Amino acid sequence: MAEAPVQIPDWLEYRSTLAPNEGPSLQGWWICCVCKRENDSTIWGDCCPDCGHIQCDDCTQC
Ligand SMILES: [Zn+2]
Ligand SMILES: [Zn+2]
Repeated sequence: MAEAPVQIPDWLEYRSTLAPNEGPSLQGWWICCVCKRENDSTIWGDCCPDCGHIQCDDCTQC
C-alpha cells in the first residue's frame, strides 16, 4: 500500500528550496487599514496603490 503524499502548497515547496534569508518573504508587507489590500513595501513603499492611503499605525504589519 502506497502512503498518500503530504500535500504541500506550491509556495511552501518553493520557499523550502530557498535559503531562509533569500527569496520572497512577508517582511515589509503591510495591510492597508482602509481597503485591506496587502502591499509589498519594496514595491509600493508606504503608499497603498489602491486607495492612496499612507501606511499608519492602524495598518497591519505582516
Ligand atoms: Zn488601501
Ligand atoms: Zn492605515
